[in-house]
Amino acid sequence: MRIAHDTGSRQLTMAVTTPPREDPPVPKLDPKRIAEFIEPYRVEPGRKVRLPRDFDTAGERRRSKAEAREVLRQGTALLAEYQMRLAAQDDYGMLVVLQAMDAAGKDGTIRHVMSGVNPQGVEVSSFKVPSSEDLDHDYLWRYQKRLPQRGHIGIFNRSYYEEVLVVRVHPQILDGQKIPRKLKGRNIWAQRFRQINDWERYLTEQGYLIVKIFLNLGKEEQRRRFLTRIDEPDRNWKFSAADVRERRHWDAYQKAFSEVLSNTSTPWAPWWVVPADDKPLARVIAAGILAHTLIGLDPRFPKVSAEAREALQVAKQELEADAPAGVAADPIEAELAAKAEQKKSRGKGKGKKGTDR
Ligand code: AMP
Ligand code: MG
Repeated sequence: MRIAHDTGSRQLTMAVTTPPREDPPVPKLDPKRIAEFIEPYRVEPGRKVRLPRDFDTAGERRRSKAEAREVLRQGTALLAEYQMRLAAQDDYGMLVVLQAMDAAGKDGTIRHVMSGVNPQGVEVSSFKVPSSEDLDHDYLWRYQKRLPQRGHIGIFNRSYYEEVLVVRVHPQILDGQKIPRKLKGRNIWAQRFRQINDWERYLTEQGYLIVKIFLNLGKEEQRRRFLTRIDEPDRNWKFSAADVRERRHWDAYQKAFSEVLSNTSTPWAPWWVVPADDKPLARVIAAGILAHTLIGLDPRFPKVSAEAREALQVAKQELEADAPAGVAADPIEAELAAKAEQKKSRGKGKGKKGTDR
């Protein structure tokens, strides 16, 4: 994991210090390999899913540890680069939905996978029990309000899917929602699936990429993680007695998740089921999924128009005329020329690395 962090901070420094470029090189990667790596975790739209039978929570490392680490490194580096492009292009946005049972590692996944991206372009929203103001509105209202702006990546740590998960497992929550009695029909869940699919389709047609990740934790691994939170004093703060109470409803949640995966994995917003018992593996897969989605979009830095280039030259002349006595009119031009010269001569010594990338 440390590797991901190192890569991340290098990328971040780069984002701050590198001058704007037209089409910067993407970190070396093989999109086909990433696509292949994550393929087994995609829920084919229309597929009937039954948990825990259909998806393994342990996940087999089909690749070597080294290759998995390489995919994570490339995935996070690529995310950093593509997030800059997404922001520069400023028309598409990306929404990442994270759902899971307690202790599945949602927070750690966000921390590691997004370690390289510029915090200015990311908005993380955690959804808890709805407020009374939330309950005074339709159920999608509070999620709509937290959608990322165009050019940004929004992460929902829990999401509107709770409206067909926790609300389904605990029907008394539904009683607290002020939906007119007449409209609370027996097929409310089928209706909500349709509403969610429609809403996601609308968002997609508005330019939002929607990536939905279910961190699939095994029941025994959850028990171990809860015990770790109790037995290790440093982790006590993470433990909540409510989590153990919620665990008693494990089977009901598995059923509710199965229904969600079966009914809301669509061509425009598919679900990915990520095995979560092995944290490093889960993070690799999650990074791969996000990278894969952005590769598909392929955002670009906007091309500078001839008009804008002309305006740059006018501004340049003004700044050059402003040079104090004894100072070069444009010292930057000389620096860039020297750098280019250096690069050329280094390039001649074949086999050596020519850039700092
Ligand atoms: P945590 O994320 O562990 O801090 O817990 C947040 C709590 O809020 C969980 O127990 C969720 O089940 C609950 N929660 C999240 N969204 C909703 C919702 N829409 N309706 C009711 N409870 C929710
Ligand atoms: Mg919790």
